[in-house]
Amino acid sequence: MKTTPYWWEEAEPQHGERRPDRDACDTLVVGAGYTGLSAAITLAEAGVDNVVVVDARRVGEGASSRNGGQLGNAPKFDLAYATRLFGPERGGEIMEDYAQSMPFLLERARTLTDPFDLTMNGTVISAHTRADLDRLRQERDALPAEQRGNAELIPEQAIGTVLKTRIYRGALLRHDQGSIHPAKYVAALANRARALGVQIVTGLRYLGATQGADGYTAILREDAGTETFSLHAGRILLAVNGYAGPELPWLRQRTIPIQSYMIATEPRPFAEMEELIPGNRAVIDTKHILYYFRRSPDGTRILFGGRARFRTSTEAESAVGLRAFMEHTFPSLKGIGITHSWSGNVCFARDFVSHIGRTGDGIYYSSCCNGNGISMSTYLGHRAAQAMLDLPGHDRGVVNTHFPRIPLYNGHPWFLPIVGSWYRFQDKYTRWRDR
Ligand SMILES: Cc1cc2nc3c(=O)[nH]c(=O)nc-3n(C[C@H](O)[C@H](O)[C@H](O)COP(=O)(O)OP(=O)(O)OC[C@H]3O[C@@H](n4cnc5c(N)ncnc54)[C@H](O)[C@@H]3O)c2cc1C
Repeated sequence: MKTTPYWWEEAEPQHGERRPDRDACDTLVVGAGYTGLSAAITLAEAGVDNVVVVDARRVGEGASSRNGGQLGNAPKFDLAYATRLFGPERGGEIMEDYAQSMPFLLERARTLTDPFDLTMNGTVISAHTRADLDRLRQERDALPAEQRGNAELIPEQAIGTVLKTRIYRGALLRHDQGSIHPAKYVAALANRARALGVQIVTGLRYLGATQGADGYTAILREDAGTETFSLHAGRILLAVNGYAGPELPWLRQRTIPIQSYMIATEPRPFAEMEELIPGNRAVIDTKHILYYFRRSPDGTRILFGGRARFRTSTEAESAVGLRAFMEHTFPSLKGIGITHSWSGNVCFARDFVSHIGRTGDGIYYSSCCNGNGISMSTYLGHRAAQAMLDLPGHDRGVVNTHFPRIPLYNGHPWFLPIVGSWYRFQDKYTRWRDR
């Protein structure tokens, strides 16, 4: 079993350049995932010359080449919650931001020349309990009239039409969502950025910056070495999501990195897999500790993901937990070979909302996809670039909202095993009550 993502078989992350080819740049973007690259593209498309993206790893080697490739844009909260936190106007705008992220991804996709297996086959949101199915019904009814036709409620008796399993109480089938090959997508964004003149430098860790009269002096260090050097930047954007290290304490105090795990099965005949997940749709369930799964783009494997454990665990350990739940979902897969097991960091905020803003010294950040990030990070990068360009109307929605610090926390999520056990208990209890 390999411990690298299945996606890397076809699109392993590549190194960019080793050093910036200049001592100064207009904008320095830290993080070469969807957020950072999308920001760089928007800046370059707006005519900003001299954008440099740096990453400590290879291009997209963070969550952007490790995820499930399932496109969705539902936030982890509703309008009432957003209104309670930010007031009716901001709350409504934040919901709009989430709604905008999927159309924006499709718009950006049209500008990319490299293929990345984008299919709008739909997403099955499967209900853990009858109460969850009711909530999904309400969610569908609350959609704007023109979108409601794209959301089909599947009752429990008919779940077999979308999934060959008996474990769910029904589902909401969203015809307007789909999936991608995540590693090809991040590579396609990088190539688009390069074509627009953006320089992408990898293997360089950003260590911080000092502010001067005309911008910042950023300190960079080769990730594998000790030598540091400086780069002058007019503006800096931190797009590091779940990979903020000790060098970024301000973000570390506000973001919770949670490892999410995935496995890929060995290939099986297409027809057999088509029976399990007809139409190769993406599937996600409604539990607190949720599972998500789909078939590989060629339709022959199951790619199954979730939070197998809340303590750091090896790929071998997480594969055991994921396999057990996969076999519970699809008993016919019992004993199937697992070829890949891997993990990556998902980034959560205390309030479950994505945030774009500036730290005390004026450095921009875009952070926290809260587990739902392909379309949202692509869009957040774009919105962060709009904020940096100071475009009229940028100060709305997720831009410049209060980004709460987490009490008694400095980046080491000691509380996750406790919170995880509580959520796991709730998932079991609600299902028991629903029997
Ligand atoms: C296993 C898994 C499954 C997921 N499944 C889905 C899914 O199916 N659908 C979905 O919508 N979302 C999913 N997500 C979430 C999604 O992958 C992320 O939200 C998205 O990739 C975040 O992109 P990003 O560019 O913000 O961050 P990342 O891609 O994580 O990039 C951040 C980069 O910052 C770099 N960095 C950090 N600190 C520094 C520094 N000091 N100097 C230089 N570089 C630095 C890191 O090396 C990293 O490359 C999943 C995530 C994981 C881990």
